[in-house]
Amino acid sequence: MHLSTDTQIIDCPYCGESYELVVDTSESEQRYIEDCYVCCAPIQFTVTVTGTGEFLVLAQHENDC
Ligand SMILES: [Zn+2]
Repeated sequence: MHLSTDTQIIDCPYCGESYELVVDTSESEQRYIEDCYVCCAPIQFTVTVTGTGEFLVLAQHENDC
């Protein structure tokens, strides 16, 4: 068991700035809120890791369902 992290460039849904997000790929599915590094708005991240080690990151407004 080891920590597995990777990085993904995401676009903030509020200010549109791109920045690098560190993703923990040891969890197959995660939802969490992290403030944008640029505008400090709360971004809802949904991370889905596939069986092949690839992952998808969705960045949405906090109140989007
Ligand atoms: Zn932002």
